[in-house]
Amino acid sequence: MAQPVPTPSERRRVLLAAERETESLSRHGRTRVALGFPNSYEIGMSNLGFQWVYRLLNREENIACDRFFADEDADRRGPRTLETDTPLGDFPLVAFSISWEMDYVNFLRLLPAARIPLDRTERGEGDPIVLVGGDCARINPAPLAAWVDVFAMGDAEKIVPSLADVLRRDLTRDATLAALADLKGLYVPAVHGARAEGAEDGKIVVQQFKAGEGALREPPHTTLLTPHTELSDKLLIEIARGCSEMCRFCWAAYAMAPQVRVTADAVLEIAKRNRPLTSRAGLIATAVADHPEILPILRGLAGLGYHIALSSVKIDAISEEILAILTKQGEHALAIAPEAGNERLRRAINKKVSDEMLFDKVRLIARSGITQLKLYLQVGLPGETDGDVDDVVGLVDALRLVFLEEGRKLGRVGTLVPTVNAFIPKPHTPFENEPLDDPAALTEKMKRLSAAFWKMPNVTFRGMPVVEAIWEAYLAKMGPESAPILLEAAAGAPVRRLVKTHRDTLMAVVRPGRALALAEHESPRGVFDPHARQAAPWGFIAKS
Ligand code: SF4
Repeated sequence: MAQPVPTPSERRRVLLAAERETESLSRHGRTRVALGFPNSYEIGMSNLGFQWVYRLLNREENIACDRFFADEDADRRGPRTLETDTPLGDFPLVAFSISWEMDYVNFLRLLPAARIPLDRTERGEGDPIVLVGGDCARINPAPLAAWVDVFAMGDAEKIVPSLADVLRRDLTRDATLAALADLKGLYVPAVHGARAEGAEDGKIVVQQFKAGEGALREPPHTTLLTPHTELSDKLLIEIARGCSEMCRFCWAAYAMAPQVRVTADAVLEIAKRNRPLTSRAGLIATAVADHPEILPILRGLAGLGYHIALSSVKIDAISEEILAILTKQGEHALAIAPEAGNERLRRAINKKVSDEMLFDKVRLIARSGITQLKLYLQVGLPGETDGDVDDVVGLVDALRLVFLEEGRKLGRVGTLVPTVNAFIPKPHTPFENEPLDDPAALTEKMKRLSAAFWKMPNVTFRGMPVVEAIWEAYLAKMGPESAPILLEAAAGAPVRRLVKTHRDTLMAVVRPGRALALAEHESPRGVFDPHARQAAPWGFIAKS
């Protein structure tokens, strides 16, 4: 018999009853904040950034922070907060943590559902201030600038205390916006202007930890454990931000630089304190195994009786001991990212992995008992030739032979999963002005790969749909011109139709023909071009 669907209030009760705090939060305060994740509860509560900001806000004197999620608007009364069932419009500040551009559509649905004017210029005294933080705010706020009062750019520890000070002053809406605009790392379009021309030096400076001070801070970790998440009851601990590798396509490495790593002692102290609550741990970092103390951390967690899963391991960091810790816990799957089919192209993207190292590590992985190995690869990389695409096939085939040969010795035949994405040019990287590959060429390359891998035993190919590549590239680099397109998406238009209907607009953004880097400003490939940067929608963002 089908289970009856719980009402929104029953669901609220079930979710709250299942949560366990890793820190006792007072949640008393005269100034109320609604903090939202524009996706489901299950996805939002799996996001460490969201969980950490919730803790930091509730630690502030006189601030009480509630949570809300995109699925709460199933209730016809409009989205309400989880803790106190309060409509969003009753809060002086409605803050969103947005980590993926794909969630913009949910953000655009939540505000009207909460009867908060979508256009920020139509909000007045008594309407909440709408703030957006998270990775999307610090990468490229321009597409949301028509709807957002304040963008928070940087590490939450650097921003929350001064933000809370302003909120506690109970100022009028205009005075609050003016006071927030004076704070470092906050971009207030109504005060600073569409391109932050009114900000000091015309720049908004992202507030982030320097390597030394970041190493000494309390490592961000899960605030509320719950079985109702994608990462059921897993204690997440951030061990590092940024990556020493600096692959030229990787926004996380460039946007988060300089790399910040917390000590193994600090990580294990948190793990020990929370061990009575759970036996599952997840390590969060731009590249987990890039941490110099990764082995002491893994050993310590295993010694405390934690089950640890690593989603992806940096190739050069793979060792017998790391693999032994993972396989001893029953892990059979691992992912690595060679990115390109040959050394020449890997060098061009600054991926410091030789073929020899790759083969050695795959041999080690197979010997450890891992039977499913995912290989992240890209096509359409800057400077790619037809032969480079063939080399992707050749590399996977050669790695497959090594993987099977070693697996057979253990009596297990494994599978390789080449997962091929299109290269997506991302803001803040040296490749930000490179074009997305021609969609027709991408389609042909994916077909070619699919046909070659289909014939290969023990290989399961996963290729990125080209429509998705165009949409993703557009979401990353779009400017204010995207507003009507995003509103169509929020109204339910499928991506395929949006890409077809607005093809010219999208192509002008994702395939600018290197027009920005031409003539006297021409730079070599993979090198930052300050002139092109200045003209980009995110050109007013600077690093501290
Ligand atoms: S190794 Fe991974 S995380 Fe590090 S820079 Fe390269 S792509 Fe980014």
